[in-house]
Amino acid sequence: MPYRKATNCIHGRHFEAKEGTNTPIYPSSVFRYREVDQNIYPRYYNTPNQEVIIEKLCKLEGGHRGILFSSGMAAISTCLFSLLEPGTHMVLSGSVYGGTFYLVEKEMAKRGISYTFLPDTEVSSFEAAIQDNTRVIYLETPSNPLLQLTDIARVADLAKQRGCITVIDNTFASPINQNPLDLGIDVVLHSGTKYLGGHSDLCFGVVITSEELYEQMYPQAINYGGSLNALDCYLIERSLKTLEVRVRQQNANAQQIAEFLETRREVRAVHYPGLGSHPQHELAKAQMQGFGGMVAFELAVDNLAETGQFLDHLELIQPALSLGGVETIICSPSETSHIKMPKAQREAIGIREGLLRLSVGIEAVEDILYDLNQAFEKSHQVFRQSQAV
Ligand code: PLP
Repeated sequence: MPYRKATNCIHGRHFEAKEGTNTPIYPSSVFRYREVDQNIYPRYYNTPNQEVIIEKLCKLEGGHRGILFSSGMAAISTCLFSLLEPGTHMVLSGSVYGGTFYLVEKEMAKRGISYTFLPDTEVSSFEAAIQDNTRVIYLETPSNPLLQLTDIARVADLAKQRGCITVIDNTFASPINQNPLDLGIDVVLHSGTKYLGGHSDLCFGVVITSEELYEQMYPQAINYGGSLNALDCYLIERSLKTLEVRVRQQNANAQQIAEFLETRREVRAVHYPGLGSHPQHELAKAQMQGFGGMVAFELAVDNLAETGQFLDHLELIQPALSLGGVETIICSPSETSHIKMPKAQREAIGIREGLLRLSVGIEAVEDILYDLNQAFEKSHQVFRQSQAV
């Protein structure tokens, strides 16, 4: 019987030296070659410490082969540049991670690759954007920062009918909450820096796919050289052991926090796929096994200065970038991820100055709720101006 995810997070392949339950660290860039049928080298992504992580992540995502990279962006760029050739076109869902947006904007045209960013996450928009030369359809669901969903199975079906390869950035959901390969997607990638690492101290990325697409990407991965060292691999393996319990707790905390935020008069809107009020709650139930640790909410304020006053009153929750760690952090997308987007354009897609993005950690949820509550109380003056209280 196949093991469940919690078990696969912990157990993996063991190597020749069976003296312990943990994989030995091989701090070698040099490996003997006469006894083995392949050359082993860190930049060939095949050292024992790299392989044990890839095997684990393949099991968690339901994929056959994978490559472990030194950042999420190394995974994304290697994947896209190996699938797209001059003269081809790609379709991307409306809100993708800022770094992906800049990669596409800066690097595709000069390689003769064209692209279309969609205005929303509707399947009909994907369909309308596909051209005869479209090779890749790229999705991110739930999206950053508004937690909008794309119907993964329907986009995967559409892509198959039109001969396109589907790639999904599954960072926000983690493999515990969503397995796109099971829904027909061809390539899953992650910024492991987030949930997979989970302790805000690692930077890595991963691509998981089929044997055939792996063969297409692997030579490029060797040429681009974004590989990872054995010591980081050891920390990743250690982090993955607790992935399932961390994400399970993050899901539970985020649900309670989202429900609390919905009751507050100081909050204009809460975006969380686990809420009945989320417009795609039914889709979330169908394609996710948990609703995740990311919650977005909009304060009843008029500008960034007022949002800043609320942030200044938080004591436990740190205003910080990135996401997916064990500690709860918060950021204002208008001042961080979307700062380079003109204000009018930002607001047109729903990123107003009162919007906050919370990456929920695994602290006692009562303490997170207490912190939010006391910050609301201390910010009364701000909310009185906007007549929220
Ligand atoms: N994808 C998503 C959804 C992200 O949030 C990030 C980073 O914030 C990345 C990809 C890029 O990952 P990295 O920073 O590990 O290169």
